[in-house]
Amino acid sequence: KDDTTDTIQTDAGLRTPIVAVLGHVDHGKTSLLDKVRGSAVIEGEAGAITQHIGATAVPLDVVSQVAGSLVDPEEFDLPGLLFIDTPGHHSFTTLRSRGGALADIAILVVDVNDGFQPQTEEAIRILQDSQTPFVVAANKVDTVPGWQVDEDAPIKQTYEAQSDRVRQQLDESLYSIIGELSDAGFSSDLYWRLQNFQNNIGVIPVSAKTGEGIPDLLAVLMGLAQRYMKEEMEIDVTGPGAGTILEVKEEQGFGKTLDVILYDGTVRASDTIVVGGQNGPIVTDVRALLKPRPLAEIRTEKRFEKVDELAAAAGMKIAAPDLEDAMAGAPVRVVRDRDLDDVVEEVQAELAEVAVDTGEEGIVVKADTLGSLEAMANALDEAEIPIMRAEVGDIAPRDVSMATTVDEEKHRVILGFNVDVLGDAADKAEQQDVRIFESDVIYQLVEGYEEFVEEMEREQKEAVFENVVRPARFRILEDHVFRQNDPAVVGVEVLSGTLKRNVPVGVFEGNELTRVGSLKGIQDQGEDVDEVRNGARVSVSIDGPTVGRDIDEGDELWVDVPEKHAKVLEQELREELPADEREALQMFLEKHRQRDPFWGK
Ligand code: GDP
Repeated sequence: KDDTTDTIQTDAGLRTPIVAVLGHVDHGKTSLLDKVRGSAVIEGEAGAITQHIGATAVPLDVVSQVAGSLVDPEEFDLPGLLFIDTPGHHSFTTLRSRGGALADIAILVVDVNDGFQPQTEEAIRILQDSQTPFVVAANKVDTVPGWQVDEDAPIKQTYEAQSDRVRQQLDESLYSIIGELSDAGFSSDLYWRLQNFQNNIGVIPVSAKTGEGIPDLLAVLMGLAQRYMKEEMEIDVTGPGAGTILEVKEEQGFGKTLDVILYDGTVRASDTIVVGGQNGPIVTDVRALLKPRPLAEIRTEKRFEKVDELAAAAGMKIAAPDLEDAMAGAPVRVVRDRDLDDVVEEVQAELAEVAVDTGEEGIVVKADTLGSLEAMANALDEAEIPIMRAEVGDIAPRDVSMATTVDEEKHRVILGFNVDVLGDAADKAEQQDVRIFESDVIYQLVEGYEEFVEEMEREQKEAVFENVVRPARFRILEDHVFRQNDPAVVGVEVLSGTLKRNVPVGVFEGNELTRVGSLKGIQDQGEDVDEVRNGARVSVSIDGPTVGRDIDEGDELWVDVPEKHAKVLEQELREELPADEREALQMFLEKHRQRDPFWGK
């Protein structure tokens, strides 16, 4: 342990694996982190776990004390575990490093009563996309009715001490979680049944409330990291540092500061750094390197303590000038003895990697961090929603202007993930008919937008449906001529389709339709009606023809659907038509196409 830095390290130059916690809201992510920290504080000597900015380090000896016989410290050379303090996929996606996830390993928390929920699924997708190994903490086992609590006990011990009924009920919940993991494409099992953690996900029953299973959780994380991640943990601890911005924060006495998680090398208070900003890399000098004051000294006025250097893995605050444009999720690189241009290029390249595929037609996307922007872009790509512009930042009036330049109405939209809508932007959007969607849950944004598009398309279809001339075939009934002409009034039976008022009608002679007039009114048992469906027997008035000359009893008449309408009906509305009307359309098209194969195409 290096006393000057508080970073836990071993002589071997192995850094601490970084652990993230994900899962659906209220499934117990925060409680689990608190419990891990709490157990570690109780079990370890005071101060053995160290509070970082944005993260908590639990050294190996504390892990082994909490885990008891499950972890023999002799078998490990990784120094411990670094937990990122902010759980959830937002911080996970924000914290990227060199194109991947910053976290080396993740805990997916699933409430045993609640099973997989939307954010569980989203977390799985994110973990899959970033290829991050994870374990499942099946949380809240203490809520199984009849559960006998054995505080902080290893799970197998407490599980086996339960009554058969309790155990059976827990098993059911656990197997349904295992089933849901399988549906998501992961093979999994209760962790103590697994030999191979590389191709299988370990499920660890835990209670963030009673601490049961926490020893197992720490043991499994430690074991996984030791076994499968050792190579990635081999770093040049004293080399120039590399990290990711967790947050850009105003801090009294320091101005804009960066909360950074460092995953490689060292940062020193004397270093020049290159930071990812809105308008490209920012080159600046560290003014102060800060860590939280130990708990005992918390009453002193200053919350932070200045240090000379900090080594990975660690969370820290960096104060430096010119950080106004720095972005959460962007890289931080120490220059030290390297060529400044090379480092700038590296940061540039990493920023460009996140650049989202955009086109001339599509929606505008705003997000609070680079990582979340990337996650949004992935989700939209999956849903096949095109993007015209994607940027980190609040929704501003110029975003609204941008959204008005699209051709398609459904793209006059801005999706904002975890950002504010600046006042004038909201007004402007309303005036210019641009829709703004906001949420801090990606799938809600995507689904909200998809629903909006569906609704809009449905309305558009309905409007077209209202105005389109629909096909119908009908026959003049024998002995039902009520008036010869001006207008002709006859009884008809609708053979197929929907007959509406104010449509042109005609008679086919072979494949040639001759227009005979216009159907003006429909009367059904003495009542005027707007439309009737197939099978109906009604009387109709037709302007134009004279019965006995142009039309006659027993004649089959057709609604003379204009070619353009026939095309819309066939290509866009076919699915909406009732079967008989589809048949009428088909017959109508076939007759025309025998004469002209391209009619209505
Ligand atoms: P998060 O939204 O995932 O961070 O969930 P929280 O940690 O805030 O927990 C949500 C609620 O579940 C809180 O009321 C917790 O007290 C409760 N909770 C969390 N873990 C457990 C557990 O293991 N057992 C019980 N009984 N309650 C829990």
